[in-house]
Amino acid sequence: MRGALDFIFPVQCGRCDQLGNGFCASCYAQCELQQISAGGIAVRGLGLYAGTLRRAILNMKDGRRDVAEALACCFSRLVEDGDVLVPVPTTFVRRLQRGFDGAEVLAMCASANRATRVDAEALAGRTVVLVDDVLTTGVTVTDCAATIAAAGGLVKRTVVLAVNP
Ligand SMILES: [Zn+2]
Repeated sequence: MRGALDFIFPVQCGRCDQLGNGFCASCYAQCELQQISAGGIAVRGLGLYAGTLRRAILNMKDGRRDVAEALACCFSRLVEDGDVLVPVPTTFVRRLQRGFDGAEVLAMCASANRATRVDAEALAGRTVVLVDDVLTTGVTVTDCAATIAAAGGLVKRTVVLAVNP
């Protein structure tokens, strides 16, 4: 099935249109790793939400699953062995518009590689890493951290695709 789909809609870089990968190696090389703090929580991002990375993320948000999966593959390099990932919930409307949940796809792909993933019900006593696509104001991170703390968990880090400059 995937083979037939590749023929009709070939996998193509969401930034430069090169065939074969949803986010190609040369576009990935242009990203500059970000390490900042939002509301006292350490944040790691693949790059700034600008230029190359911004265009790829917009393609992902338009529903390009090949771009989402390729970005998730780059993203998994920010995740460490043993990290317990919790995707920041996407609002229902956003999910309907794009057909899938960006943070969910990222967390799934990253956990396939090195980390584990938990649902909101299993937070008590756990130290977790939040996953989101773009860090804008940091309010979402602070809100989620408070919710997780109320459920008995602790956020040690947030990993995002991009950080708003
Ligand atoms: Zn590219």
